[in-house]
Amino acid sequence: MAETKRKPAVGLQPEGDVDWSAYRGVMVVLEQRRGKVAKVSWQLLGESRRLADKLDAPLMALVIGHDVEDIARQAIGYGAERVYLCDAPELADYRTRPYSRVCLHVIRTVKPEIVLFGATYTGRDLAGAIATHLPTGLTADCTQLDVDDNRLLLASRPAFSEKMVATILCKQFKPQMATVRPGVFQALPFDERRMGEIIRVTPPLDPGSIRTEVLGFVEAVNRVNLEDADVIVAGGRGVGGKAGFELLAQLAAALGGQVGASRAAVDLGWISHDHQVGQTGTTVRPKVYIAAGISGAVQHVVGMQNAELIVSVNKDPDAPIHQIAHYAIVGDLFEVIPALTEAVRAART
Ligand code: FAD
Repeated sequence: MAETKRKPAVGLQPEGDVDWSAYRGVMVVLEQRRGKVAKVSWQLLGESRRLADKLDAPLMALVIGHDVEDIARQAIGYGAERVYLCDAPELADYRTRPYSRVCLHVIRTVKPEIVLFGATYTGRDLAGAIATHLPTGLTADCTQLDVDDNRLLLASRPAFSEKMVATILCKQFKPQMATVRPGVFQALPFDERRMGEIIRVTPPLDPGSIRTEVLGFVEAVNRVNLEDADVIVAGGRGVGGKAGFELLAQLAAALGGQVGASRAAVDLGWISHDHQVGQTGTTVRPKVYIAAGISGAVQHVVGMQNAELIVSVNKDPDAPIHQIAHYAIVGDLFEVIPALTEAVRAART
């Protein structure tokens, strides 16, 4: 098949002959809000360490914010050998324009061959904004990453209603950029003995030219955050309805966790889609995942199989979910879940 050479959008052509070989190394753009780092950032550093080692190239991180030097130090403990730190009061809260200008400045100066972002709301916004200013592409929502012998990033993501996996290459331009789903990769164990360099970046901004102002924050009430949850109590069709999910919510509350769901339960309207775990939902990596009334279809399992501890509750002894569980409870969830809740509450008092 003939290969067609894609031209960058008008106005974005690199001037003259660009020496792409000057681009080296893998850079992860870390995401933090009010000093709390999104787990996907550490997961990305873990996977990028593998890519950088394969490329024999440096692993870099970019930290943007205010009073975030400690995050730069943590990034070294999680695998980065060079951390670019842009710390300024006007960067305290995420705003697309100033953050993307810092990223563009660092990318143009440092010239990493690969730049990765978490596929979170913020990461998608930032990566998209940057991609419009660079003569390169952006592969969104990846679930697998690798590099080939030509130093090309193999960025794979589900395609065609998640029925296939497409591997996308950016052959002609640099950097190669991708956003990556939270929960699919594993962070390296934090090691405070790891050595690295922190390089301070002067913000390329005139604070007066920033046209948006953050007036305040209102925390969303009952916001579902499966990606960062340590404990998830998930229910499926076997839960039987909204009332059944109330039982799961009580156990989740007792354990300080969140409620997850299978697609069947979401499609039946018992719980909203932001609770869905799996191929077309969220990929999770909690410490504990309790699956109640869930059969264990492959599309569900791909989203939760990396949980550290899986407990299945299903009355069918042959349900596939029992095969991947560390503890399989064969029983009626309407007896097992309240008993677990009682036991947890009793242990806490
Ligand atoms: P079921 O398969 O019906 O299982 C219900 C289970 O509950 C049974 O095993 C039963 O024994 C048990 N049960 C019943 N009553 C009780 C009781 N009282 N106590 C204990 N156990 C009980 N699914 C997802 O979850 N996430 C996805 O992201 C997802 N994406 C998909 C994408 C595509 C392209 C396709 C084709 C499918 C996708 N699915 C997804 C759907 C998936 O194939 C399954 O249909 C779905 O996961 C089944 O949900 P379930 O386990 O809740 O229901």
